[in-house]
Amino acid sequence: MPDALNRQPIAEELLDTLVYRLGADYVLTEASDMLPYVQEQRRLYPGHALAVVMPACTADVAYIVKQCRHHGVALVPQGGNTGLVGGGVPHQSIVVALGRMNRIRDIDPTNATITVEAGCILQAVQDAAHDAGRLFPLSLAAEGSCQIGGNLATNAGGINVLRYGNARDLVLGLEVVLADGRVMNGLTALRKDNTGYDLKHLFIGSEGTLGIITAAVLKLYPMPRGKATALVGCDSPHQVLALYDQLRSRLSDTLTAFEFLPRFAMDAVLSHVHGTRAPFNQSFASYALIELTTPDADLDLNPRLEAALADAFENNIVCDAIIATSSKQSQELWRLREGVAEAQIAEGASIKHDISVPVSRIADFIEAASAACLSILPACRICAFGHVGDGNLHFNVSQPVDMEANDFMDLTPRFNRAVHDLVADMNGSISAEHGIGLAKRTELRRYQDPVALALMEGIKTALDPQGLFNPGKLL
Ligand SMILES: Cc1cc2nc3c(=O)[nH]c(=O)nc-3n(C[C@H](O)[C@H](O)[C@H](O)COP(=O)(O)OP(=O)(O)OC[C@H]3O[C@@H](n4cnc5c(N)ncnc54)[C@H](O)[C@@H]3O)c2cc1C
Repeated sequence: MPDALNRQPIAEELLDTLVYRLGADYVLTEASDMLPYVQEQRRLYPGHALAVVMPACTADVAYIVKQCRHHGVALVPQGGNTGLVGGGVPHQSIVVALGRMNRIRDIDPTNATITVEAGCILQAVQDAAHDAGRLFPLSLAAEGSCQIGGNLATNAGGINVLRYGNARDLVLGLEVVLADGRVMNGLTALRKDNTGYDLKHLFIGSEGTLGIITAAVLKLYPMPRGKATALVGCDSPHQVLALYDQLRSRLSDTLTAFEFLPRFAMDAVLSHVHGTRAPFNQSFASYALIELTTPDADLDLNPRLEAALADAFENNIVCDAIIATSSKQSQELWRLREGVAEAQIAEGASIKHDISVPVSRIADFIEAASAACLSILPACRICAFGHVGDGNLHFNVSQPVDMEANDFMDLTPRFNRAVHDLVADMNGSISAEHGIGLAKRTELRRYQDPVALALMEGIKTALDPQGLFNPGKLL
């Protein structure tokens, strides 16, 4: 009997229990009500939910898990549903939507920590930290709708990783509901704690397959008091990498972001993104967007950046540079970087790769992967952009102007193989930011070390023996 038919009657009985606990308003079963939870933004992975349940507290989550376990029904934790790999899409399971669990439980500026529930929107956490005179540095374009639970479950990256690390690096403690309904209370706010295995790291990046994160203690930092932003034009990715190397040594931790754009991306942004204008009188093969920040209000970063760029100019690494003289100009420069995703949509279909290699190999990678893609389809347009300072590129390939989108997308396996084989050759990762979800399960099996894969499977079995947490994702 198909799985779906097998589970449906059990779910009916379960639903009554859940309605009794949560109230009918917080158990959705109508298809139209559930629609926002069963598909992600790009609608690449249509799903189906038995119900969407909205717990108000950790005890509710534990209750839901115990009931589902009793009935053998699978669960998919969901945050803001901004994930890009289909990880939060349900298939014949119950969605546990954590949005109601959005309290800031505690903020301790002296300890530089904030304790938040998993359903807090990332921006709300940033705002709460700001109100206490501190910085919570995780920042990504989806910050107005993604939730902390989702950020931790995907180990999100974003634009400040170079200085502050990924989501994983920003966590001190976690509260997690396990597959048997027990609650692991690991909400410590300690910077030193060597009491055995550091279990929180199992759940960070586990994409909802090992437990439901219900709260976290996060690290805060001093508020930046000074900032400098520059856009630089270079002749090649190799020049951009040489510039990164120089700036990193010279400017140390003040270098907060170092982002890369190729000419194709810049031209597409200028053509399609409203309100942007050409930064230079001429165009360049490669661009770097650079940001420095400091918590020291007396440190003027603009002259430091100017001096570093002048030396790079002397050394023939940089062709031209603009240093923002106002926060408005800084925002305009960032708009050029942030507009790439929108501009790429306007250029038609694209095949995307979210990869990382050691920073020192990034220019070689761009060169080799571009050549490999052009040999598959000479008219394709390479749009490799992103967080070069983290060794992370969105190595995207846009369709030729005169080709049918579907014909182009049919070539996805060939492009994936070419790009990911090169990633593997350089000891890189086929998923630097967005995770595995549904999108990259096959690729994970192909490229992950077999021993590591077996360990992952063992951990999954140990923590979720019935396989009820987010089945069919990641592994
Ligand atoms: C415009 C845009 C820009 C983006 N930019 C970036 C970027 O720069 N860097 C980056 O890393 N990502 C980026 N993303 C991807 C996405 O925003 C991140 O993966 C984000 O961390 C997902 O959070 P979410 O709350 O939306 O999670 P969801 O999409 O709801 O879920 C993602 C995964 O986490 C699991 N999950 C969710 N909540 C929990 C929980 N409480 N406990 C356990 N598991 C849970 C889900 O089951 C799913 O597998 C971007 C997305 C968009 C749309």
